Amino acid sequence: MGQDNWRKLLCPKCKQLKSTCTCSTEPSVPSKSTAIRVGRETKGRRGKGVTTVSDLPLDENGITELATKLKTRLGTGGTVKDGRIEIQGDHRDRIIQELESLGYRVKRAGG
Ligand SMILES: [Zn+2]
Repeated sequence: MGQDNWRKLLCPKCKQLKSTCTCSTEPSVPSKSTAIRVGRETKGRRGKGVTTVSDLPLDENGITELATKLKTRLGTGGTVKDGRIEIQGDHRDRIIQELESLGYRVKRAGG
């Protein structure tokens, strides 16, 4: 019994005391575990609205690069705003396809 309690204090990864180990503070591969959210927004916008791509596991340069790639592939306009991509029109299916072909995990959000 006493040994089980003792074991709970140890990190299962490095076998060090949890209070001293650094495993939990290290970033845990966010790019693989996080799914990109692809949604649509029509509120306050004229016409078809925009397709939004958020929760991107990329830095600002990466996001801008991806936005350019998507705009080129879809032949439509778009912007990068607050760390997310907005593509003009409803292109969710195409964008999900493109992102998946690039190796990203994608989650469709909203209706
Ligand atoms: Zn540890």
